[in-house]
Amino acid sequence: MIAVHRLAIHTITTKQWDLPTAVRKYCAAGVTGVGVWRQWLEGRTLAESKSLLDDHGLAAVSLVRGGFFPGISESERQAALDDNRRALDEAAAIGAPQVVLVCGAKPELSLATNRRQIADGIAACIDHAAALGVKLAIEPLHPMYADCRSAINTLGQCNDLIDQLGDAHVGIAADVYHIWWDPQLEAEIRRAGKRIIGFHVCDWLTPTTDFLNDRGLMGEGCIDIKGIRAMVEGAGFNGPIEVEIFSNRHWSRDPDEFFQDILTAYQEHVEIMDRRS
Ligand code: ZN
Repeated sequence: MIAVHRLAIHTITTKQWDLPTAVRKYCAAGVTGVGVWRQWLEGRTLAESKSLLDDHGLAAVSLVRGGFFPGISESERQAALDDNRRALDEAAAIGAPQVVLVCGAKPELSLATNRRQIADGIAACIDHAAALGVKLAIEPLHPMYADCRSAINTLGQCNDLIDQLGDAHVGIAADVYHIWWDPQLEAEIRRAGKRIIGFHVCDWLTPTTDFLNDRGLMGEGCIDIKGIRAMVEGAGFNGPIEVEIFSNRHWSRDPDEFFQDILTAYQEHVEIMDRRS
């Protein structure tokens, strides 16, 4: 069996598998963590999903995703807050310690307005997060998504936001796909320190043919994954490493073969720990 120390997999990565299938396959491979996308909770109660995870020795390491705070109208913004509070409830119910926030953006609004609404939105969820003991993990997104997916685009912005909001209930999900290009990467990781509570891996392909669904398997692209891993661990991160790949190319393959390739790629291009552990 391939060593998969600290490996967690997002359910969207193995998109072809429903939750019962995914937990069975992950468990058989010795994987112990899963990033649970909310769609994978549909069709059964939260307690039933939690039992599925427990029965396979899997811990939910994150619930994906909340966010999308900006809205054109007050009612739209309120609906987003309600949905984020529901996401926190779902995370608590399945034992996930964090909700990953894709913070959102509306192209009709200015960047400044989007960013203000995001800060207000996260602030409005903190009491609920605190009551449940679930953290809000801000995931900065690559700037190519600044129009409609997230106006939070760098670790520096995350650090500035958390300087305002406090870090008791708010942290950062650092995804190599979104942060690898940043000339301030090392300094902002150091500044973030233990604020980094999530670490997502995949790779950047050249050329990238689709903004959303053309991520590479680790090792297929140009990201120095081990180098960034060493930086976040140097800053104090020691949590699970979450494989999150959106790829029409890989999703069209045989899912079992793709899964084996994930395990192999993790060992070759992510693992830097003592292999015996
Ligand atoms: Zn991510």
